[in-house]
Amino acid sequence: MHAVAEYEKVKNIIPPIEWPVFAPLIERINTLKAEKNAVILGHNYMTPEIFHCVADITGDSLALARSAARTTADVIVMAGVHFMAETAKLLNPSKTVLIPDTGAGCTLAESITAADVRALKARYPGVPVVTYVNTSAEVKAESDICCTSGNAAEIVESLRVPRVIMVPDEYLALNTARRVRTEIIPWRGRCVVHERFTAEDVRALRATTPGLTVLAHPECSPDVIAESDYAGSTAGMSEFVARERPPKVVLLTECSMSDNVAAEYPDLEFVRPCNLCPFMKKIELSNILAALEHGCHEVVIDPAIAARARVSVERMLAGWRP
Ligand code: SF4
Repeated sequence: MHAVAEYEKVKNIIPPIEWPVFAPLIERINTLKAEKNAVILGHNYMTPEIFHCVADITGDSLALARSAARTTADVIVMAGVHFMAETAKLLNPSKTVLIPDTGAGCTLAESITAADVRALKARYPGVPVVTYVNTSAEVKAESDICCTSGNAAEIVESLRVPRVIMVPDEYLALNTARRVRTEIIPWRGRCVVHERFTAEDVRALRATTPGLTVLAHPECSPDVIAESDYAGSTAGMSEFVARERPPKVVLLTECSMSDNVAAEYPDLEFVRPCNLCPFMKKIELSNILAALEHGCHEVVIDPAIAARARVSVERMLAGWRP
């Protein structure tokens, strides 16, 4: 598709003066994708020129994992962070999976190691480990089943056990515990973006913008969730906006999410208290193009670890019960 047509999708959010910087990169990327039978998976936190103009499949971690499991492309470029690329590789061991910047990490993924999970299992024998997808393949390999912020409560309840260990996001674990009857043993990981929102922030936003609808990601603290009108994954927030059309809305999550949703709803007022994810922002059009041109950086996982980690991801996708 010609870059002029692409601009139609983002004209509400990208000023015309900025477009000449993006247009040639977008054209080159979209041409190379076709030549190499490549697909770009774009997380909701990508900037609008990536999300709307070069990503073939967009969504939250769960949607990207499902799409990765179905793709017929030879090459998958992950416009997201490293654990997402690893998840795509786990589900597509024979395909080439590329991450445009190896520094695209995640504070949650870095908060726990495989040894930490083994120690938890030793401390709580027989208690299943539910692991947020925001983790390394090594941690997934030690886990019983994965979850995302969109399905955490359903996954916990599906296990039909009195207690689970949920790692690594403490806030997701505490927020999930409020929705289920299962006892949840949390870990102490935090997301650098969502932990910064406070309940006081929400009250101040409501005071300055009467009639504001507040949507919050479950990686925010339980205090923030209690002050919000809705809590859900990035996909859940998008669906809420599409369904309810709140005239004034704030999304308590990463900045680009608001930009991407706002591009589709120019009639709604988006209040934007901006918290950027420094890891997501490492992915740019220039390094996506370099990934396609040079095949960098290929995600490689030790086959023995991958085999065990794959089980926990596939159980999530299949609705497994112990
Ligand atoms: S927004 Fe938070 S959870 Fe998502 S990649 Fe960034 S640090 Fe990790």
